[in-house]
Amino acid sequence: MKMQECLFCKIVKDEIPATKVYEDEEILAFKDINPAAPIHILVIPKKHITSLAYLKEDDEEIIGKIYRVINKIATDEGFKEKGYRVIVNCGEDGGQEVMHLHFHLLAGKKLGEKIVA
Ligand code: AMP
Ligand code: ZN
Repeated sequence: MKMQECLFCKIVKDEIPATKVYEDEEILAFKDINPAAPIHILVIPKKHITSLAYLKEDDEEIIGKIYRVINKIATDEGFKEKGYRVIVNCGEDGGQEVMHLHFHLLAGKKLGEKIVA
């Protein structure tokens, strides 16, 4: 897929609206449009990375930063102690629908099954 057609690249460029909860030079977090939990935030690298399967050596740093941002959001939004779940779907069998790497951050209730298969 070309970057110009990518939904999440369009959100990064403000071409499609989103409810942003965190933004810096490299990372954006916004509310999922179809939440699966009371808190459902998507955390993405602004740079287009198709999925975990397309990570390059240069991308290692951004993955660490994304987890730090998740930690910050959990602290700022007040659910760090109660807990949360991070999910990354990868590829067709992994259930990935938007082909721009994103980390689902779910919180706000006791979540259900630990492994969905
Ligand atoms: P995945 O199935 O892992 O690719 O997840 C894609 C997620 O993107 C789903 O949870 C959708 O609800 C969410 N989504 C799709 N379009 C938008 C949008 N315009 N704004 C926010 N979230 C979206
Ligand atoms: Zn993209």
